[in-house]
Amino acid sequence: MLKNLRGFPDFCNLEGNRINFIFQTLSKIGEEFGFNFILTPVLEPQELFVRSLGESTDVVSKEMFSFQIDGSEKQTVCLRPEMTASVVKYCINNNDFRNKIMYFGQNFRKERPQKGRYRQFNQFGFEIIGIPSPFREIEIFSIIDKFFKTIGLAFNLKINSIGSIEERQNYIKILREYFEENFTNLSEESRTRLKKGAILRILDSKSEEDKEIISRAPKITEYLNSSSQEVFKTICNFLKKNNIHFTVEPTLVRGLDYYNDIVFEINCDSYEAAQDALGGGGAYDNLFEQFEAPKTNAFGMAFGVERIMLNSWSLKESKKKAYVAVVEPYFEVLSSIYQSKFFAVSDYFVSITKALEAANKNNINYLIIIGEETARGNIIIKNLEERTQKEISLKSFLAL
Ligand code: AMP
Repeated sequence: MLKNLRGFPDFCNLEGNRINFIFQTLSKIGEEFGFNFILTPVLEPQELFVRSLGESTDVVSKEMFSFQIDGSEKQTVCLRPEMTASVVKYCINNNDFRNKIMYFGQNFRKERPQKGRYRQFNQFGFEIIGIPSPFREIEIFSIIDKFFKTIGLAFNLKINSIGSIEERQNYIKILREYFEENFTNLSEESRTRLKKGAILRILDSKSEEDKEIISRAPKITEYLNSSSQEVFKTICNFLKKNNIHFTVEPTLVRGLDYYNDIVFEINCDSYEAAQDALGGGGAYDNLFEQFEAPKTNAFGMAFGVERIMLNSWSLKESKKKAYVAVVEPYFEVLSSIYQSKFFAVSDYFVSITKALEAANKNNINYLIIIGEETARGNIIIKNLEERTQKEISLKSFLAL
């Protein structure tokens, strides 16, 4: 049989169901916060990402799936590597400069595949357009907190302020001098970044050689003006007051060019270090202008759906879920079970052993058996958590 392409996985059963649960939970939270759902194209003009993410970013320089399409005019297109730029394009083309937009979809990056890092992966994102700080940050951090509480996963928020464009340019000059002084001790990759002028990206380096140099590097927080510092303080105070666990990470810059001021990443201790980022985001108040649109406040984030799925949650799944094993063909009782408050999954003409296996595999607490007892108007209900079993009448079961 044909195999999947490397980095293009299937997810089914428990994994697929969990991805669906993440999607549903985030959609519901987004709806509660008043976000509108958007669907954007998977195939986009390559220029969209070159202009927004920046030519020297890893995503644009190495990881795009791009190709030419023929037609009256030849155009270079690519599979989208992220969705913020597409949301901005939508807003500009539709004159929509104040909105709260959420999305879910596949992104594509030609990375080296490994567990938790794929070439096709899903993100669920939230973008707040046209609303200033600190309201937009507070809203996004509240969504993150609510989501992880719902699924029962402890997370850590790493947060930093990278300042306005002017502050950052001044900082980059100082940082460049510092890295030039340490040039000979930098990793090969960081030296190339330095030569290309991708100075901030050196701070993202995971290389052991660079770690010590980076830890001694000047910190952006020392070069922020008072208004940037004030916003940062307000947001940190909000997080403290609401018991949202966070750490200030002065070297966190994020890999894309469009960010300014507040940037953040969500991490989880229970996952292998290299892929522990479950999501991230930040402000991109200059991106609209880069596309010749009016200056527009914007702040957003994306959750990495597969990474969240791969973690162990402490979520107690609904107690009401039942697995209905139809051993004997008494199908006329089924519709009343389906209408009951017991959410039902069924299988037909199975052995009880097989049904038990399936119920356990799917995290289901109750096994309902439609067998010979059903001729007497009864069913057997097994509580798999408590390992108990009783025969009760269908009538009293429906009244439970
Ligand atoms: P980014 O768009 O790079 O800020 O990524 C946001 C989140 O998407 C990350 O924190 C990851 O959880 C997830 N992510 C990014 N790249 C990949 C990938 N190649 N495979 C799986 N998840 C990814």
